[in-house]
Amino acid sequence: MELIEISEGKARVLVPKAERIYDAPVFYNPVMALNRDLSVLLLKVVKPKKVLDALSATGIRGIRYALETPAAEVWMNDINPDAFELIIKNLALNFPGKIEIHEKRAFLKGSKVLVATNLDANRLMNDQFRYFDFIDLDPFGSPMEFLDSALRSVKRKGVLAITATDTAPLCGAHPKACLRKYNAVPIRGELCHEAGLRILIGTVARYVAKYDMGFEVLFAYYKDHYFRAFLRFKDGAKKGDETLEKLGYLYFNEKNGKFEIERSFLPSKAKAYGPLWLGELKNQEIVEEIHKLAEREEIAEKKKVLKFLGIIKEELDVPFFYDTHALARRNNLEARKVSKIIEILKEEGYKATRTHFSPTALKTDAPFEKVLETLKSLQ
Ligand code: SAM
Repeated sequence: MELIEISEGKARVLVPKAERIYDAPVFYNPVMALNRDLSVLLLKVVKPKKVLDALSATGIRGIRYALETPAAEVWMNDINPDAFELIIKNLALNFPGKIEIHEKRAFLKGSKVLVATNLDANRLMNDQFRYFDFIDLDPFGSPMEFLDSALRSVKRKGVLAITATDTAPLCGAHPKACLRKYNAVPIRGELCHEAGLRILIGTVARYVAKYDMGFEVLFAYYKDHYFRAFLRFKDGAKKGDETLEKLGYLYFNEKNGKFEIERSFLPSKAKAYGPLWLGELKNQEIVEEIHKLAEREEIAEKKKVLKFLGIIKEELDVPFFYDTHALARRNNLEARKVSKIIEILKEEGYKATRTHFSPTALKTDAPFEKVLETLKSLQ
């Protein structure tokens, strides 16, 4: 394997030289630097002690967690033997002279414990029952095959970070795959990204409740064709009940773009999309802390991270939005600037903000009819 050295955050990492990322013997995607930056920042805020990067590839994520956050113990794992070898090389590069290998496990003991393993992630997580304060699932495609093991391996008040890159099922291009993986009906069109994120989180809610656990969403987003959510678990049957109460459905009128949501475990009408998580997509305090940290920390994609967090910080945390282009098209009108519509709605006493889901959309507490009337008034 031909390797090149790159640096990201405080880590120096050897990665395979490859024309296209999916041809490489070990996976490395530089576009995910922003994902790793945001994760590092979140770890600095929630301060978990024992951390697992369950699907580690080059080890870059776990190594950054070890170098850049207060985590005391970081495990890096990958089923691919080439990846395991590379993780060890990368540990040696970042922590020179300190790595010991016993029975196909690499250890570093010192101020931090680092462990590298070459196991099936489900097997590892099932062996480490209620052990980790933070588990990161960053797979190819859907994380669902690892979810149950992760929910057993994470502590009852721990945090799960979950990535899904299977946007085709979650955004409704492959609805049967969405039904199989997430037991949910996805929607196509302008709301598909927010619905996809809410399907992912909603599935975790239905999986975790059987352990008498619930969760709070610390921060969840869609970007660059992937979904990401950080969930902090809460212990107790009541917390499980409260989490399930935040599930529900979306109904959508294709003709005019009006949407409705229903908070209920079962849908009461036909043509329901879901089940979806209809609770919060962020903890405002945590997002503000991450944003503040991003301003002063040396992260890889500082400018992009600050811009992205700036939008998330201001974003109204209500389910779904109006995309002015889609709204105009569906109602035979001309699209108008989102900023202008937001300004008018705010003047009339409504809340209205941009959303990270789409640059041409707005979130508001104004009723559909009011948003449409505003667009009409601007023709
Ligand atoms: N987290 C990495 C990063 O930030 O660069 C990228 C991980 S990559 C998208 C997914 C990794 O999961 C691959 O390296 C693959 O070998 C590994 N993998 C796939 N199935 C696995 C399994 N059952 N157990 C452990 N690792 C697995």
